[in-house]
Amino acid sequence: MTYKVNIEDIQQALVELGGEARAKHIQDYVLSKHCANQIPPNYEHDKSFRQTIQRKIEDYCPQAKGFDERKKEGKFVRIGHGMYRLALSYSGKEFPTTEELGAGHEFVEGATKTIKVNYYERSPVARAACISHYGAKCVICNFNFEEVYGELGKSFIHVHHVIPLSEVKASYVVDPINDLRPVCANCHAIIHRTTPALDIAAVKNAITRKN
Ligand SMILES: [Zn+2]
Ligand SMILES: [Zn+2]
Repeated sequence: MTYKVNIEDIQQALVELGGEARAKHIQDYVLSKHCANQIPPNYEHDKSFRQTIQRKIEDYCPQAKGFDERKKEGKFVRIGHGMYRLALSYSGKEFPTTEELGAGHEFVEGATKTIKVNYYERSPVARAACISHYGAKCVICNFNFEEVYGELGKSFIHVHHVIPLSEVKASYVVDPINDLRPVCANCHAIIHRTTPALDIAAVKNAITRKN
């Protein structure tokens, strides 16, 4: 059996592990999911398999020495010794057309920035990590689509990007746990009623005051 360590499997492992994990746990996940818990013969042993995983991660980690954002995309953030979090960077190349954005995010502060925020809120990888960490319920009002709509609402939720547009830099890499929050469609619409967007605490406060 030959298996080659690849970036898609590492990303999937991190999503399944809640968005962040130690290299060791990423290795355990990849081994059980793709290699029937056996170190593939093309890797000498446990340690070389793990080092390959870690090297792959570091290749896409903006904090790593020698990282070149013109060549590679930032996909992971190092958050401790041998510990990584799933991330996602924005590169204009990857964003095909503005048409795909649809309506709903008209808090324009320069077209590029609007695209960036949409990109993070819509990226399946970043969304999955955010939802896996916080659960598929609104962090503002606790609305859970599945509880109300049953099967139809299962795992439906919006994801809001909390970093102010003015702080999003060209080389910014999104952190799905610190920078994204699951919110229901109503709360999300209210958040974006103003420019710049309201913060989560302000909307939460508005609900609390009314009750
Ligand atoms: Zn809500
Ligand atoms: Zn939003």
